Amino acid sequence: MRRLLLIGTGGTIAATADAHRLTDYQVTEGIESMLAAIPGARSLADIRCEQPFNVDSRALRTAQVLQLARRVHQAAQDDTLDGIVITHGTDSLEETAFLLHLTVRTAKPIVLVGAMRPASAPSADGPLNLINALLTARDPSSVGRGVLIAMNDRILTARHASKGHTTRVDAFGGDGQGVLGAVCDGQVRYQQHPDPSTAAALPLSGLRSLPAVDIIHDYQDAPLHPYQAAIQAGARGIVVAGMGNGSLSPAAGRGCAQALRKGLICVRASHVPRGPVTDKASDADTGLLAAHDLNPLQARIALRLALAHGMDRDAIGVLLRRL
Ligand code: ASP
Repeated sequence: MRRLLLIGTGGTIAATADAHRLTDYQVTEGIESMLAAIPGARSLADIRCEQPFNVDSRALRTAQVLQLARRVHQAAQDDTLDGIVITHGTDSLEETAFLLHLTVRTAKPIVLVGAMRPASAPSADGPLNLINALLTARDPSSVGRGVLIAMNDRILTARHASKGHTTRVDAFGGDGQGVLGAVCDGQVRYQQHPDPSTAAALPLSGLRSLPAVDIIHDYQDAPLHPYQAAIQAGARGIVVAGMGNGSLSPAAGRGCAQALRKGLICVRASHVPRGPVTDKASDADTGLLAAHDLNPLQARIALRLALAHGMDRDAIGVLLRRL
C-alpha cells in the first residue's frame, strides 16, 4: 500500500454553510473528519494526516506558506512516504502551488486540492476532488510530474494552473501545458509531461521570510500614488499587472522609474489571462524586466524568492526568461 501524507490547511473544501448556500461559509472541518466522511477514502492508501492550520486561503500569511513548504520539503525526503496531498482554499491555491513548484525538489507526487462548494452544499465537489487527489498522489505514473493540482477530474501542473472562474466547479485551468491529465472513474491518465526545468529553481534554503513585492494593477488613466505608496512601505519590488503585452500607462511608467531609482526591481506582467510578455528594446533604457511566461501572481512569487536569494536585477532578468 502506498503511504501518503495528507496535510489539511482549510478552504471551502473544509467549510460548511447554512442550508444550500454556496457562500457565507465557515471553515469548520478538520482533515481527519473530512477524510472520515468520504466512504472508502481511508482505504485508498496508508494515510497520515496533519493539520498545521485550518483557514480560508484568502487569509494565508507568507509565514504559513513557508511553514507548509518546509514541511512538504521535509516529507519529500522521508523514505516512509510516497506522496503528499494538501487540501487548500481555492482563492490562493495557485499561489501556494507555484511557490511549492519553485522551492521543492522531489520526484514524489505533491498534489494540491480544493473545492468550489462547501462540504455542506448539495453536489459538493470536495469529496470526489479529494479522492482524485489521493488517487493521483498514490499513482506511480504521477512520479516525476512535479507539483500538481487535482480539481474537477483534471490534473494540472502548478507551473501553469490558474483559477479562471469565480464560482464554477471547473474553475481551474491552464494555458497550453496546464492540463496534464485526468482522473476518470478512479483511473489516473496523463496526456503530457510537464517541463521539469523550472521546478525547484529557487530552493527554500532556510528562508523564514520573503521580501515585500507589491502587484499594482494598471488601466486607463491610472494614478501614480500606488507606486509611491509601495516605495514608502518598503517594498523591494513591484510587479505591474499591465495592459496587453505588458504595456504601461504613463503613470505606471513614471511610478516604476521612481521605484527603480530607489533600488526596487520592477517587472512588467500583464492582466491579460493568456500569452507571454515579451522583451521590449526600451527595457534596456527603462530598467524594467518582462515577466515572460509568468502571470502577475507568479511573477510576484518568483521575484520575492529571487530577492530572498540575493539575486540582482540582471540575474532576475535571466531567471524570469527561464521560468
Ligand atoms: N475562500 C475560499 C478559500 O480560498 C474559497 C475556496 O476554497 O474555494 O479558502
